[in-house]
Amino acid sequence: MHITELRLHGFKSFVDPARAPIEQGLTGVVGPNGCGKSNLLEGVRWVMGATSAKSMRASDMEDVIFSGTAGRPAREHAEVTLVLNDALGQAPAPFNKEDVLEVSRRIRRGLGSTYRINGKEVRAKDVQLLFADAATGANSPALVRQGQISELIAAKPQNRRRILEDAAGIAGLHARRHEADLK
Ligand code: ATP
Ligand code: MG
Repeated sequence: MHITELRLHGFKSFVDPARAPIEQGLTGVVGPNGCGKSNLLEGVRWVMGATSAKSMRASDMEDVIFSGTAGRPAREHAEVTLVLNDALGQAPAPFNKEDVLEVSRRIRRGLGSTYRINGKEVRAKDVQLLFADAATGANSPALVRQGQISELIAAKPQNRRRILEDAAGIAGLHARRHEADLK
């Protein structure tokens, strides 16, 4: 499973619809300070089901919606979409039937977030599990935030174990066991 495109609309500084095709291999994002490089990566973590506003450098999750500038009014909603190629059928059932998966998250002021996979509304958990199984996801060590290395060094043993488990790709199993325990 690999990402082929990222689309943002109304997310943080990306007020107008923006799309970034992701080729296989190494992708670099370059630009002056404040142009939105970190916002792009936050968009990726957000659509994967990030639940912490703090990890989005926001005090409230609605702060990810474009908040307006001198010339542009604030928006009422934000949406981020990841297009995935899953020709190998690695996604969990029933999402492994399609070769292309479009995963999107949308937030509206006062109404919270909704998630869709190929247009069908799903739970946040479905999206989180999809990416946890692929050893990626909102909290995955595959996405390293600015300043995260020093946090990792200072982390408690339990937290470091979670990071290693995420890297080993078994975070999805933990999430499923937790869900089973709740039933
Ligand atoms: P650096 O090179 O300094 O790390 P960067 O390219 O990573 O910079 P970002 O931190 O992604 O830049 O972008 C910061 C910009 O995004 C700021 O100008 C900030 O005002 C803008 N921004 C963040 N959230 C919002 C929002 N909700 N609405 C509008 N603009 C926003
Ligand atoms: Mg940055």
